[in-house]
Amino acid sequence: MTACNTTTTTIQPNDSEKLFYSELDKYIDSLSVKFREISVIKMKVCEDIVQALLLQKGKTFGSFSPKFVFWAKQTFLLLKIVGIDIACCVKTKKIVCIYESFFNVISERHVSVSHGGRDKTLCEVNSHSSWVPRPAIEIFLKHCTPCQVRKPIKQHVVSKPIISLGVITRLQIDLVDMHTRPDKIEQDVVFN
Ligand SMILES: [Zn+2]
Repeated sequence: MTACNTTTTTIQPNDSEKLFYSELDKYIDSLSVKFREISVIKMKVCEDIVQALLLQKGKTFGSFSPKFVFWAKQTFLLLKIVGIDIACCVKTKKIVCIYESFFNVISERHVSVSHGGRDKTLCEVNSHSSWVPRPAIEIFLKHCTPCQVRKPIKQHVVSKPIISLGVITRLQIDLVDMHTRPDKIEQDVVFN
């Protein structure tokens, strides 16, 4: 019994993570080549960015293309945290969240805002890191079990329009039973 429970708890997160990355990869593949390259920062690219930023000004570009070095210097800056150079976004000054960490980072932030919605989670993620695209959060939320379980199933009311075919082709009459309140006009004339 205990072994069974242990198996369930260890397999589930892996499956969610696999599903998340499989859908995320589909999304990235659907982008045009131009956007695909800069949609997310993978670990290897992040290491290259750090190396490119460490290059001495005016010196050789090393193994990198001048275009890559230019892009890296325009988009990122280095922050030294406990002696380690870490790439940050120039605009937001937040640490670059690499693709490989998306699942854990989004999961942690989403739980910290008590399973809040897309915007709340995105805001929380962005307040700590950069380069996590909005679709990554949407994919994550789609597979978050607690969020899916508590979501009410919407029963849409299917309205049927009344199409008039002509004048007085459709009438509506309210019937009121007045027997309990007879209208007495005269002694012996009573409308029921
Ligand atoms: Zn959730």
